[in-house]
Amino acid sequence: MAASEGDAYLIEAVQGGDQDAWREVIDRYEGRLISFARRMLAQRGEAEDLVQETFLGLLRSLPNYDRRRSLETYLFAILRHKLSDHFRKHHPGRRQSLDTLEVDDAPQAWLSTETPSGYLAEAENVAAQRQALVDCLRQYVEQCRTQSRFQELMVVEMLMVLGMRNKEVAADLGLTETAVAGTKFRVLERWRQLTQASEAAREWREADLAATSTVARIWREEGVSCLKRSTLGRYLLGALDDDWTSYVEFHAEVGGCDRCLANLDDLRSEDEGGDDTREQLRQRCFASSIGFLSRRPET
Ligand SMILES: [Zn+2]
Repeated sequence: MAASEGDAYLIEAVQGGDQDAWREVIDRYEGRLISFARRMLAQRGEAEDLVQETFLGLLRSLPNYDRRRSLETYLFAILRHKLSDHFRKHHPGRRQSLDTLEVDDAPQAWLSTETPSGYLAEAENVAAQRQALVDCLRQYVEQCRTQSRFQELMVVEMLMVLGMRNKEVAADLGLTETAVAGTKFRVLERWRQLTQASEAAREWREADLAATSTVARIWREEGVSCLKRSTLGRYLLGALDDDWTSYVEFHAEVGGCDRCLANLDDLRSEDEGGDDTREQLRQRCFASSIGFLSRRPET
């Protein structure tokens, strides 16, 4: 589930200064970004400003954009970063909102084009290792889904991502604590095999994988188990089978995945025919960034 081909093509065109491609990027992502920002900010105007800055941030950081990352993940990372800055400046008391954003240091490197080259090389190395781990974890999630091992995936998300205790997970899922511990043991062994099989991910030791805070942060920021938009659409239509439906409910509602919830909000509002404010915001994002796009050097 790397960057979709459509996105890669669009980004290529945007880098060449193609205005239609840039408009397409804005049209495609504005809805889910504003839904995400609106979940964190009561003031619509503030949320819109941050979405506008997010698109500008994308244009500015395109030279540093790693094509292996999905564009959606990248845009959400920029927006999280903007939101976190915003809370720090304007709502210093809102600790809780900040905690759910959990932005790491990386976005700073993506957003600045003036990073010293030594630091950049180090940042690239870290980013490559991180990406390798993400690929392994995605592979694992994909295997669980194709083999309908949804319960195992729920155990993993509850333990490793949400940080729940074995006892709590057992009670919630109607399992014994021994079964939960056994699952965790097998999953860590599976992750160890996957990372050892990958040249770039080999640096990740079992202790790193078992240290749930690292995995949890990367998992959330990269949306490792986030659902495809088409899957969320079928969920809303009631067109998924029971296993998938309860998994989507778990991931979005119980797990409180703000990214999937934002996509669901956006899909619902598309169903209702959207509204004028969305088109206005798209225009505004385009108008405020287009000058920057045409200033880009020819490649
Ligand atoms: Zn998600």
